[in-house]
Amino acid sequence: MGLHLLRLHLGLTPGEDPMAKCAQCQATEAVIEDLDVQPPAPWCLGCATALVRAGDPVVNYLPLDGRNEYARVLAGGSTAVLPFR
Ligand SMILES: [Zn+2]
Repeated sequence: MGLHLLRLHLGLTPGEDPMAKCAQCQATEAVIEDLDVQPPAPWCLGCATALVRAGDPVVNYLPLDGRNEYARVLAGGSTAVLPFR
């Protein structure tokens, strides 16, 4: 019974769910949390990448995926703008 109650509690706690869905498209697993808003908003890689392309990237974030693929997107975006010459 104790374990059941614990699971129920975790399921109702936003921000602590490792499988959090993106707040924008509500369909894809989030890879980062935007810490500039309260409560922190989860973003999937696709939506976060769209923000980078739009020139309004999330820079104050918490990686959720362990590999931090979003950091590569941010780095890739800046190298695409600045050619290596
Ligand atoms: Zn999304």
